[in-house]
Amino acid sequence: MEITQILDKVYVLNPGYVMRNDITRAVLATRDNSSYHSLDVNDVSTILHPAFAVLLSFFDGSRTLKDTLNEVSSYFNISFEGALKTVSKLIDNKSGVAVEYDGHFFYLPQNVLVEKKAERTECYSPGDFKIKTEVDLEHERLNKPIYASFLVSNRCVTDCIYCYADKRRIYDCTIPFQRILELIEEAKSIGIISFDIQGGELFLYKDWDKLLTALYGAGYSVYISTKYPLSAWEIERLKATGTKEIQISLDSIYGNDLMTNLKVGPGYRDRILKSIDLLDKAGIRIKIKGVITGPIFNLNKIEDYINYFDKYANVEVVELTAPSHSLYKTAAEFSYYRLSEEQLSALSELAEREKGRHHFELRTDIPSREEGLSDEEKKKSFYARSSCSGNMSSFMILPDGNVTYCEETYFNPNLMLGNILNSSIMDVWNSERARNLFYLPKSIFPKESPCATCREFEDCRYSKGICWVDVMAAYGEDKWLYPTPDCPYAPVPLNDIKVW
Ligand code: SF4
Ligand code: SF4
Repeated sequence: MEITQILDKVYVLNPGYVMRNDITRAVLATRDNSSYHSLDVNDVSTILHPAFAVLLSFFDGSRTLKDTLNEVSSYFNISFEGALKTVSKLIDNKSGVAVEYDGHFFYLPQNVLVEKKAERTECYSPGDFKIKTEVDLEHERLNKPIYASFLVSNRCVTDCIYCYADKRRIYDCTIPFQRILELIEEAKSIGIISFDIQGGELFLYKDWDKLLTALYGAGYSVYISTKYPLSAWEIERLKATGTKEIQISLDSIYGNDLMTNLKVGPGYRDRILKSIDLLDKAGIRIKIKGVITGPIFNLNKIEDYINYFDKYANVEVVELTAPSHSLYKTAAEFSYYRLSEEQLSALSELAEREKGRHHFELRTDIPSREEGLSDEEKKKSFYARSSCSGNMSSFMILPDGNVTYCEETYFNPNLMLGNILNSSIMDVWNSERARNLFYLPKSIFPKESPCATCREFEDCRYSKGICWVDVMAAYGEDKWLYPTPDCPYAPVPLNDIKVW
């Protein structure tokens, strides 16, 4: 499109992205609300030069591009054309953009600035991104975390054969509710973007409705995932909190399959299906997620399962998942519940055939097959891996107040960052313990771990990091200082942890 054609239009910072002042730089991240994903945003959190955050703060949707550029050029004391040249790269950009400013390089995701269709709910002013220190775009670990999760307990109503949770000891929530409210308040005040609840079963926590109300009140959109059959009055209680959507994890519509997969009693099937019925009638949007394991694999029954949800107007998504390795299950257990290659292919093909035939979106969550990669391809895929956000931008509060990396590292003492019972989130985040865990010195790595002598150590460990869960799953919990099995220098894993 011609530049002159767009000068009179109103462009806005994509409402799917939010920005934060991170003391020595700014951070741009995807908003905590899946409905914004329809705005074609990448799932990102990226560090940017504060000057760019200031520039983007002008795009609040209150004026045309021409007027915005006039303001930008007068604020930065640059020409109108100079401002236009910088900004035009960020308008409806279909892919990420690498940016250089003042000798610093950083990255901006796709569709940073889009034509205004709706109001932004969060606007900024240039003063929000004034920093008082030297700009630091090098260190990946954020000065202030942006993602928090809270594990209410590790207690469930089912005993799934593929369970990935650490249930060697059951923890119920022992954090006083008043302290939880203070944490939510602090999270909001330091700019935490999302505050998720993980389980364990949320509905077994006595204050679940008060917790939801407090999180919604602070502006967080909680994604609830449950296997708990909710009764009519519990659904009333849920609605009263303001809940609009829920994920029901249901692996089959057949009682015997559920008894096999979830080790539940014979009445569970009817109770959970009744619960879906009531949620649908209550107008709560529903996502159904099914883990299809080897022992219950039957293509006809999976088809029946998909068709079953046609009758529910509020079922919006049905997702079929292949079970993955659990750190807390034995190799024999994994080989019992995993899917064979033929089953994985058949499941993907069935989903492909069924897509578009239902009023809901049918999805699969099956990792792509990565066999026969050359050494060069393996390296490429390792360097292109996703970052581990644990202790870099996110943290997880356990039911006893201890803080760890993520919902999968659970109670592992090696990865504890601190405890929030008597310390603030920022005190834990800035503690020596948390910082030292991110910047683990090479000298503490045992000599049998290739990391101990790795020439790429700092680039790897102090940047994207590695998945601790994969390391421990592949080599054992005592080998947590080994490389991730995807690293080109990693020894052959002791355990087979691949889905395929
Ligand atoms: S995981 Fe691999 S690349 Fe990273 S430090 Fe260890 S050996 Fe080096
Ligand atoms: S340890 Fe693994 S599962 Fe946890 S945040 Fe890091 S990459 Fe994700």
